[in-house]
Amino acid sequence: MNPIETLKLKADLLVEGVRAGGEALEGLGTIHKEQNHGLFGWDFEDHVGTKLPDDFVLPGGTIVQFRKNSRSPFKVRRCTNGLDLYRLEERLCEVNWLPRPEFYDKKTLGGNPMVRIGQIGGEDCLFFCYQNHCSYFAKKQQCLFCNLASTSDTYDSVLRKKEVREIGEVASAALEEGVARHVLLTGGCFNRQREIDLVRDIMASISAQTGLEGIPGTILPSPAVGLDDVLAYNEAGIRAIGFSMEIWDEALYAAICPGKAGAVSHDDFLQGIRMAVEVFGEGNVYGVFVMGLEPRKTFLEGVREITFLGANVVPFVWSPNPGSLLEGHRAPTAEWYVETVLEAAEIVYAADIPPGTENHCYRCDGNSLLHDALRLRGIE
Ligand code: SF4
Repeated sequence: MNPIETLKLKADLLVEGVRAGGEALEGLGTIHKEQNHGLFGWDFEDHVGTKLPDDFVLPGGTIVQFRKNSRSPFKVRRCTNGLDLYRLEERLCEVNWLPRPEFYDKKTLGGNPMVRIGQIGGEDCLFFCYQNHCSYFAKKQQCLFCNLASTSDTYDSVLRKKEVREIGEVASAALEEGVARHVLLTGGCFNRQREIDLVRDIMASISAQTGLEGIPGTILPSPAVGLDDVLAYNEAGIRAIGFSMEIWDEALYAAICPGKAGAVSHDDFLQGIRMAVEVFGEGNVYGVFVMGLEPRKTFLEGVREITFLGANVVPFVWSPNPGSLLEGHRAPTAEWYVETVLEAAEIVYAADIPPGTENHCYRCDGNSLLHDALRLRGIE
């Protein structure tokens, strides 16, 4: 399977979802890394009581998120030598689940299972959601694609609020084990100053318990609109920052993200990104989008503008997941995603933005296609 075929297959798997038979799931939660729903649920169906893989590896090292869909034509089956991926009855390729980190079985000094605090995304990204709560749900103004609240209620698999000290403990355990190369931190939207103070404390805890001076990783905070906010995150010690703009087209942004659009305008985001590039440096800032909810034309305009500012782009492939207001809808075709992301990759390549080294590489993000498209151009 050549790299462009792998990219197309990954797009198919993200759009159509995948199934896995009983034997193929043996070892999930013991030998192989299972889903723990650190923030959102990306499957097309809930699966309480059944352990499923978080993500898996295609030939060539491509990581793809596992999105359960009982109606998908794709199925992972156990074979004599391991696991094979099929489209209906046609064998496509070998696949592999990822190894389960040892720290998933450990507890913090406070007695909490570490896996309920931090989880590994892909092969090497340690993820912390420091608050599984978003104030927009109570106001019925949540983003239409978001299932943060229902994921928490359905699975209750992670602590909704994590102690700062325990986040540091988990980071130390994961780094010592060698399963984390960088960290990714985020939380739902809440009070700006409280969030800045919390992130500062978390960084201090990680530094104290790992001995690291700068934290290799990315913070995706509630939108930072002022220079003071950007400086505060930078001074906290994290090396990169991202802004979840979600949708480039302004009218669609207001319609799809009513709460967030009421608090932070399209221009506020751009101002934040501009300032962050000055403070964090080119390539260390990300504009984060949900890809598949707006026309190709406006999405690519966004990619062009963001890279013009010196930032990188992270476009997640939309999942019409349970509990979100768009549950049961359909994403664009895999062909649409492939064609659009190849154009986006050309824009990023031409802009010559340094690739972000702190997160969002092809080994972390099983739900983005852009890294895979950039790998075709030799950028990793
Ligand atoms: S801001 Fe939107 S995407 Fe983020 S947690 Fe709140 S509702 Fe979900």
